[in-house]
Amino acid sequence: VFDLELEKVKAEVQKLSAKRVLVHLPEGLMSKADEIVSALPCEVLLWAKPSYGSCDLPTWAPIDVDLIVAYGHSGEHEGVLFIEAMSDREFKLEFTPPGVVGILYTIQFREQAMKLKAELEAKGKKVLLGNPGRMVHYPGQITGCDITSALNIQSEVDSFLFVGEGKFHQGALELDKPVFDAAGNDVRISKKKRHALVLTLKSFGVLLSIKPGQRDEALAKKLKSELERMGKTVYTIVGDDFDSRISNYPVDAFVTTACPRLAGDTELFGKPILTSQEVLGTARLA
Ligand code: SF4
Repeated sequence: VFDLELEKVKAEVQKLSAKRVLVHLPEGLMSKADEIVSALPCEVLLWAKPSYGSCDLPTWAPIDVDLIVAYGHSGEHEGVLFIEAMSDREFKLEFTPPGVVGILYTIQFREQAMKLKAELEAKGKKVLLGNPGRMVHYPGQITGCDITSALNIQSEVDSFLFVGEGKFHQGALELDKPVFDAAGNDVRISKKKRHALVLTLKSFGVLLSIKPGQRDEALAKKLKSELERMGKTVYTIVGDDFDSRISNYPVDAFVTTACPRLAGDTELFGKPILTSQEVLGTARLA
């Protein structure tokens, strides 16, 4: 169960005397829209597409609202109220990670992560929380594109404990130290040897998102010029969201400059999707 913090949203609506509010929900919370709509004393619009991260706010949409309520993420943005939607799921620690332990968690599970930290410390373990990066707010917090809090302490820990669920964030955990869940499974996604694809494939579509939080034209240009330097044919494909229909374009693979976790959807798209780091890393060596 996730805490929708309806009193907090209601108080903000009243403070702003908001008449019309746009609510943006992650896929897993869309079914809770009835609770939100009936709790708010104003007109409520629901954004059609699910929210994936704080990079993904519909602030660019030409629609007149007094407030956007973005559920499931942390952040700061003018005209947007972020609701972290903490989960009450219990995590039972069935395993003690070896050595000095770094704690990593996604925003919904911050309280549980702090409980497990205290539990490990009570067992005499040294536990560290790394300083966060640009996309997150709290020490130890990660997103699918920002694992700075892990990288900042990787040399000081022997293992990590990850408190979260789903494969989306785990896909970012390309770390040299083992990353265990509370049950003791190493949840790192093994690094795929995809650099060879960059060398052998002939044509690429560089994906450029128009979402303000994901748009990176400089990176798209850099990828295009690096790939062209390697003799590849390159097209830039622009959009707000990308789905399997882009596979109709005559390219062998895609490179994402938007959410790096798109790279996990290779099977869904029918053609490989590489991250910009994979391509630039290979280009440097080529
Ligand atoms: S870019 Fe992807 S991983 Fe990063 S915040 Fe946005 S949706 Fe999440």
